[in-house]
Amino acid sequence: MRSSIRLGSLLGIPIYLHFTFLLLLGVLSLSRLFSAGVAAAVGSLILISSVFGLVVLHELGHAMAARAFGIRTHDVTLLPIGGVARLERMPEEPRQEFWIALAGPAVNLAIAGLLAVWLVGTGGGAGVGASFAARLLSINLALVTFNLLPAFPMDGGRVLRAVLAKRMGSLRATEIAATVGKGMALLFFVGGLLLNPMLILIAFFVWVGAKQELMIARSRAWSGGARGISYPDQPRPGVVTVWRYPQDDQR
Ligand code: ZN
Repeated sequence: MRSSIRLGSLLGIPIYLHFTFLLLLGVLSLSRLFSAGVAAAVGSLILISSVFGLVVLHELGHAMAARAFGIRTHDVTLLPIGGVARLERMPEEPRQEFWIALAGPAVNLAIAGLLAVWLVGTGGGAGVGASFAARLLSINLALVTFNLLPAFPMDGGRVLRAVLAKRMGSLRATEIAATVGKGMALLFFVGGLLLNPMLILIAFFVWVGAKQELMIARSRAWSGGARGISYPDQPRPGVVTVWRYPQDDQR
């Protein structure tokens, strides 16, 4: 992806940071610096970087599940609203989409479980380490919950489409999932006006994504459902993860 900085690669998949993500990181840290001091700014920088790490692991979960089905992942990019794993193609079989979509949240659930075990094992004691682990635990659970909402093309929406596609075929399933996704986008929009402006960005993203996915499903249906057709004009399919900023938890 252009206008992104390559961080390196994990499990053979290049990891990129989009410049808007860096911009946002800078703005958030500076505002913390001026409102709460150096320690608070460093603290929020560490926390945001950790969330960034959790999202990368989430995307790698999608990528590894895709790899198990023989689908390569071009790269993983971190954007201000979350992460995108760009797969070389979306799976045609609902069963594969189901598992690829679930694999991301499953990674966060597993990390949450490990953190919970660690917290219980150490008596959930006080201290910076314990409170940081507790924060990461709640962020992981938030990532799981939020991404499993049926806001197609977010993970939960992909699971919904996969389940529907088994009964009614890919096109009809996509139409329903996209309609539900747009409904969720409207809810996010209203939530954004009332609660957190970040939700407006996510709403826009879900709405446009649902439309694009529907377009892809229609052109696939028109081409007779032929397999293995590539659509050079279409946006590359991506498995998208939307995150919540740690700042939200401080309110
Ligand atoms: Zn995901």
